[in-house]
Amino acid sequence: MTRPEISLEFFPPKNIEGTFRLWDSVQVLAPLAPRFVSVTYGAGGTTRDLTRDVVATIHKHSGLRTAAHLTCVDATKEETLQVARDFAKVGVTDIVALRGDPPKGSNGFVPHPEGFANSVELIEALAETGDFTIRVGAYPDVHPEAATAKADIDWLKRKLDAGASEALTQFFFEAETFFRFRDACAKAGIDQYITPGILPIENWKGARRFAEGCGTKIPQWVVDAFETAERDGRSDLLATAICTELCDELIQGGVDKLHFYTLNRPELTRDVCFALGVTPELKLENVA
Ligand code: FAD
Repeated sequence: MTRPEISLEFFPPKNIEGTFRLWDSVQVLAPLAPRFVSVTYGAGGTTRDLTRDVVATIHKHSGLRTAAHLTCVDATKEETLQVARDFAKVGVTDIVALRGDPPKGSNGFVPHPEGFANSVELIEALAETGDFTIRVGAYPDVHPEAATAKADIDWLKRKLDAGASEALTQFFFEAETFFRFRDACAKAGIDQYITPGILPIENWKGARRFAEGCGTKIPQWVVDAFETAERDGRSDLLATAICTELCDELIQGGVDKLHFYTLNRPELTRDVCFALGVTPELKLENVA
C-alpha cells in the first residue's frame, strides 16, 4: 500500500489544560513527519493573536512546517493583511485562506464595510504579495450556502485560480463522496491537488453536531454503528476501524495526501496513521 503523506490540523487552546493538550498532541504526532501542521483561526476571528502565537511556537519548537488559517470575518482588509504579515514575521508563510463563518447567533456572512467581501478577494490580496503558499477549503458534500453542487465547484475553481495551490476538504464519511467530488473538480478544469480532510471520531455526539452544522451527510450505517458501539462501550474501536477503512479506500483510489482534523486529541489520528503504515520518522528536537 502507498504510504500517504499526512498533514495535521490543531486549534488554539482555550486555557492552560488545553495548552498542555495541544503540545502533547504535537509531540505525539510530530514523529509521523507531517508535510505540514495547521492551526485554525477562531470562528468570527476570535483567536487572531492566539493563532499567531500558537503557529509561532509550534514552528519554533517543533521545526515542523506550519500553516496558519486566516478568515475575513469582522476585520478590515488592512487588519486581515496585517495578521498575515504577522504570521510571516514569525516564519509562517503557509496560509489556509477562508471566508470564515459569521459569529455565533448572526445570520449569514456579512463582510466588514472595509473588509474582504469574500474568500476570492482575500486569496487575490495574499497572492499579490508573493509571500505566501495559499491553501483553501473545499466541500465534497457541498457547502450549505452553495446554490448547487456545480456552483460550489465553480467557486472553488475561482478560489484556486486566484492564487491557491491546494484545497483541503471538509470531512466526509464515504470515499465515494470524495471520488465523485474529485472527478467533478477535474471535469471543471481544476488541476490543483484536492486533499481529503479526515475526522477521526473521538466523540460521536460532537462529530454529529459538527457534521450537521457544516453540511456533511451522515450515512445511516454510521449512525447505527455508533449507537451500537456506544451502548457496548466500543466507540474508540469503531472510530479507528471506520477511519482506517475510509483512508485505505481513498489510498486505493489514488489519494496520497490526507489532512487529519486532530481536534488536539492525538491518539486516534496516531492509531489510524500507524494502521496505514505511517510510523515515526522524526525525533522532536528543541522541545522546551
Ligand atoms: P467560500 O468557499 O468562499 O464560501 C463558501 C461557499 O459559499 C462556497 O463553497 C460557495 O458555494 C458559496 N459562495 C460564497 N461566496 C460566493 C460567491 N461570491 N459566489 C458564489 N458562491 C459563493 N472556519 C473558521 O472560522 N476558522 C478556521 O480556521 C477554519 N478552517 C477551516 C479549514 C478547512 C479545511 C475547511 C474546509 C473549513 C474551515 N473553516 C474554518 C470553516 C469555513 O470558514 C466555513 O466553511 C465557511 O462557511 C466557508 O469558508 P470558505 O473560505 O470555504 O468559503
